[in-house]
Amino acid sequence: MPKRTAIYPGSFDPLTNGHTAIIQRGLKVFDRLVVAVANNPEKKPLFSAAERKVMIAEAIGDDPRVEVDSFDSLLVDYVRRRGIHTVLRGLRAVSDFEYEFQIANMNRHLLPDLETVFVMTGEDYFFVSARLVREVATFGGDVSAFVPANVLAALKAKLASRPVG
Ligand code: ADP
Repeated sequence: MPKRTAIYPGSFDPLTNGHTAIIQRGLKVFDRLVVAVANNPEKKPLFSAAERKVMIAEAIGDDPRVEVDSFDSLLVDYVRRRGIHTVLRGLRAVSDFEYEFQIANMNRHLLPDLETVFVMTGEDYFFVSARLVREVATFGGDVSAFVPANVLAALKAKLASRPVG
């Protein structure tokens, strides 16, 4: 049987337990996943794409079903280049729906072969976002329940090395 592969794209700035839950659920549906870090310097990310890739690879550990990559083009161009026409996305609360609906339809308009598959998060993580994690951590809040241990360490190191103000 051919292997089913999907691309799971996102900013992952940084990876959260919400993301890892989507990866684990995705692996119940797909044989392989390519976790693809969107490298968009205009978003002024806290972590570089290279740092985000390392954090994801560390958090996932040695799993031959998961590849970690990055891309700095339109998602549809990356999808075309990789020849993998299925995209995995996570859905949290209602607030995600409109945005995800827009991009899924725009992507399908740009590349009619592309199919987006959504996995809904469990109640444990439906309120967790990378943006919230960044904000809470920046002001010294405890985010240990929401990110893998290596990401927590990387957040502490990154924020300690940043100039204050
Ligand atoms: P965010 O900054 O909101 O975490 P990303 O671009 O890193 O966003 O997210 C990539 C994908 O993962 C998106 O489809 C997003 O909806 C999904 N996602 C992020 N956090 C969660 C979560 N806690 N539960 C389910 N899906 C999530």
